[in-house]
Amino acid sequence: MLQTARTAAETVDVLEVGSTGVRALEPLVLVTNDGRTAYHPRPSSERMRTLVERSEAGTIGADDAMWVVEHDADTERLPIPSDGPLAVGTRRVLGRCGWTDIEADGTASADAAQHARDDPEAALERLAEIGLLGRGRGDASQDASIAEDMAVVRELSGDPVVVVNANESDRRNETDRTLLGGSPAAVLDGALAVAEIVGADPSDTVVYTNDGDDLTRHRARRAAAAVTDALAEGTSTGDADTPQVVAGPDEYIAGEFTMALEALEGNDRLEARLRPPGPARHGLYGRPTIVQTPRTLAQIRAALLEPDAFDAADADPGTRLVTVTGDVETPTTVELPTGSSLAAVRNAVDATDGFKMACIGGQFGGFTRSLDHTVNALALQNADLGTEGVVELLGRGRCVLATTGERVRFASEENCGRCFPGREGSKQLLGLLREIYDGNYEDDMIRELTRVMGTSSLCDFGESAARNVETALDRFETELEAHAAGRCPSGACEVSQS
Ligand code: SF4
Repeated sequence: MLQTARTAAETVDVLEVGSTGVRALEPLVLVTNDGRTAYHPRPSSERMRTLVERSEAGTIGADDAMWVVEHDADTERLPIPSDGPLAVGTRRVLGRCGWTDIEADGTASADAAQHARDDPEAALERLAEIGLLGRGRGDASQDASIAEDMAVVRELSGDPVVVVNANESDRRNETDRTLLGGSPAAVLDGALAVAEIVGADPSDTVVYTNDGDDLTRHRARRAAAAVTDALAEGTSTGDADTPQVVAGPDEYIAGEFTMALEALEGNDRLEARLRPPGPARHGLYGRPTIVQTPRTLAQIRAALLEPDAFDAADADPGTRLVTVTGDVETPTTVELPTGSSLAAVRNAVDATDGFKMACIGGQFGGFTRSLDHTVNALALQNADLGTEGVVELLGRGRCVLATTGERVRFASEENCGRCFPGREGSKQLLGLLREIYDGNYEDDMIRELTRVMGTSSLCDFGESAARNVETALDRFETELEAHAAGRCPSGACEVSQS
């Protein structure tokens, strides 16, 4: 589509932008002129050529656009329609996604890094004051203060490292991919701001992506060079080393933050590291290391540049990105203020099979019958739900036993093998879930096993796999009992008894 437009264009600029997060609209063509932008989702090649022709004649194709938005002609953020999926939530860190010219991104985007360079101590104090929390399983400080690790790294001797952990093989979770692909310079600016705070050289900032994610890597490399150049402009030499952008395995465990370090060190066999000490004290090659996801780095950038947008009195200030997926027409990534209701995600997608339940928190999230939960870490944890930015809406045809069984099977096959509760516990758990189909529902044994896994697994993998099963037991007990009695209420399973 991009090539079609470029071939047809003689006088107008055709720019490449990343995803808005709303995949249902893609490929999305935005025609913009003098403070008015028209949305043209999924045009045919012929239609694309017509849009270019009209644009060259000075019109934006408003007559048959899905939306037309009036805005400041110089805006750096995607103009948002008043309705539809893009109007759901807010777009603070997603603001540039779908709008920023990927080729030019970064020309004015070293602001946060420059801010941190000017006064690293004040920048750290600001982050500590706000109390910003890490956002995802790839963060060394998931749901914990990001400033604490930075303070530790700042105090230690040894050359610090900053890892941008963008490795995510769970395709349910498009949050980091959307951000790094659509607004890479903002993520790199956030990473370089962290590097300035902890005293790391820009060349010791490493963007760690999935092997199969060539496009994201290409964009990250381009942004890394642009942001570094922008930052170097103020120096006496005018040049600086550029962050590295590398590929890691396309495996779920490779996104876990200690296994990310193992992969970066070149270890073929990934195993979670024993903690403490965490990466801040003993990270990449033993060096003090900060590991943050693109989501968290984008929040850090926003916190440094727009501090008034964060309420320090809030236990989980800022916004959270959520990919809404499951039994929906097309998965969509939205940004919700912490403190708002998760129920808003239903306005971002079209469900294909009604709504029976949701799994909140990704691969090993928690099951719930309701979306009336607040989008903040504490509220979600208190409801035994995951804070990883994924909400799966599961329809009437879904069986909770089959769904949790698939996830436990994944846990038993994909765990790293390092700890007994994760390795053997997941196998035993799978066996106990299978026995329900044979009429043997050992609720107490399952609960004891999930308790052990949840409290003694070495990493989040085993802990969250246990939560997945516990919430199925707590919230769908009668459905599990029905299976033991030979009946699957949703009709999804073949059961052996009658
Ligand atoms: S829970 Fe244990 S076995 Fe599973 S991935 Fe983590 S360390 Fe490895």
